[in-house]
Amino acid sequence: MIEVRNLSKAYGTIQALDDISLHVAEGEIVGLLGPNGAGKTTLIKILTGYLQPDAGSVFVDGIDVQAQRQTAQARIGYLPENAPVYPELSVQGYLQTVAALRGIPQREQRARLSSAIRATGLTERLAQPIGTLSKGYRQRVGLAQAILNQPRLLILDEPSVGLDPTQIVEMRNLIRRLSAHSTVLFSSHILSEAEALCDRAIIIMNGRVRADARLADLARSTGALLVLGRAVADAESTLKALPGVEGVDLVADGGDGNAQAAQTLRVRGNGTELCEAIYAAAAQRNWPVRELRADRQTLESVFNQLAVQND
Ligand code: ATP
Repeated sequence: MIEVRNLSKAYGTIQALDDISLHVAEGEIVGLLGPNGAGKTTLIKILTGYLQPDAGSVFVDGIDVQAQRQTAQARIGYLPENAPVYPELSVQGYLQTVAALRGIPQREQRARLSSAIRATGLTERLAQPIGTLSKGYRQRVGLAQAILNQPRLLILDEPSVGLDPTQIVEMRNLIRRLSAHSTVLFSSHILSEAEALCDRAIIIMNGRVRADARLADLARSTGALLVLGRAVADAESTLKALPGVEGVDLVADGGDGNAQAAQTLRVRGNGTELCEAIYAAAAQRNWPVRELRADRQTLESVFNQLAVQND
């Protein structure tokens, strides 16, 4: 549904996107994650045809967005980061105006409007001026305009920004419902939101793709955290030699070479449960084990590791 090849974009001396390539299959819900200034909005603006890249190409549903902008846009529903608001217009008035501007044929307008209104739960608010709606309902209006053209692809830039926790859950449920009909790409810097919603997370930092992870794979990933009461010289090499271990990171060594302080090791596995083997190795060698526990990878742990490497 989305094919991005070697995309670059600079604003003056700021390289917002630096040779990005990615692929999103039909039916996926993909979270585009990254810290402030990572390049998410720039990528989304290029995907939706509102910004020209300096280099590279973007295809949506097989259509070259630069060469056939309007044809591509007809297949995309887009919720911009700051959705335009017309505070004086009623919800219904605004949606009717958008439908007309989008060139939706008159005879189809009524059905499209009522389907978008129903999908976004706006039935009770039709007469209300947009300016008097809560932020959550305004976002729903933004979503309703995005799905008016029954898009094959929904692109949502920070759909939950500014919402309270209840509204965030409602927005998440709404996006999940809409994903039954459209592929969804949304940007966010709320990791828990992405974790709850998406099949796959693409993390970008400094304009580059730094990780592309299926949430199901992350959940299956195994690891263990081992805390020793004092530094043990051969702990790292012993753990590395255990079956199923892919790597060992020394998280803390007590600092300042203090051999009496705790040593914390993160053991990364290849899918096998590791705690039993680690426990056996530690017991055999009389290591001063203070703590041993399974350590599953989460989006947050991946993100934090990348953020540290990025510094
Ligand atoms: P946020 O989460 O804060 O919205 P983002 O990941 O969406 O950030 P972008 O808005 O794409 O990031 O910005 C990427 C970089 O490009 C940032 O350094 C930003 O300051 C810069 N930038 C974005 N738009 C412009 C512009 N119109 N002119 C100059 N620099 C820009």
